Amino acid sequence: MTKPLENRLALVTGASRGIGAETAVALGRAGAHVILTGRTEGGLVEVEERIHQAGGTASIAPLDLLNGDHIDGLAQHVAERWGRLDILVLNAGQLGPLSPLSHVPPKDWEKVIGVNLTASYRLIRAFDLLLRQSDRARVIGLSSSVATDHRAYWGPYAASKAGLEALLDCYAEEVANISSIRVAVVNPGATRTAMRKSAFPSEDPESLKGPEAVAGALLDLLVADFETRHRLSLPRTL
Ligand code: NDP
Repeated sequence: MTKPLENRLALVTGASRGIGAETAVALGRAGAHVILTGRTEGGLVEVEERIHQAGGTASIAPLDLLNGDHIDGLAQHVAERWGRLDILVLNAGQLGPLSPLSHVPPKDWEKVIGVNLTASYRLIRAFDLLLRQSDRARVIGLSSSVATDHRAYWGPYAASKAGLEALLDCYAEEVANISSIRVAVVNPGATRTAMRKSAFPSEDPESLKGPEAVAGALLDLLVADFETRHRLSLPRTL
């Protein structure tokens, strides 16, 4: 039986754990060859093995998204080996400190903006030509409710996600009429991961949906057709 993402090439950032890991496995099961990125090589290898066990294929590309040259290097490698990219999932994220803005150390601000926003720009810049080579390209960015629902003590993270949504909307408008690229912003909602645990340490994790539920919703989105600037918000439980 043909799998829905057979012969598709996907790149998932933050694939070493959490939502990114489960999304990578879901895409691999659906037939895509998945390039897994993140800093933790051990986590990437585990996800790669899960994809192989499910009968899929994957490659690991350990890298720190704060290094833009490494992102360019990865794009160069993908260009030489495959010559195109069909699916880009901008999932990697940093929560940063939840504290009054005046208490946020500059290095933490730079890390949150660097991973959540600047790296997304660098990835789009590096992979744009490869996405244009696809006959059906999809870019999905993982955002958050705080991108629009601004709250005290969430400054760096909220600003980074608001910036990410603006960036993706601008890109979506640029490419909609001249390429097959369609862009969606997904707010996964509260999900049982390490990031959620550090934001809400006293919350019962069992009251939340698992990352595999988000992965299933992302897979459905990627298989279906969606309009440019598509928005999807998932509830706390699925
Ligand atoms: P996790 O903290 O569990 O995972 C984050 C991922 O990002 C890891 O794989 C991590 O890999 C990667 N990452 C972080 N920094 C870097 C870096 N410098 N370079 C490369 N990779 C990096 O987060 P979640 O799975 O919970 O979140 C996934 C996305 O969903 C994020 O964008 C988050 O903002 C968003 N989100 C999550 C919610 C939730 O409730 N969980 C709610 C709303 C939005 P490594 O450490 O190996 O580098």
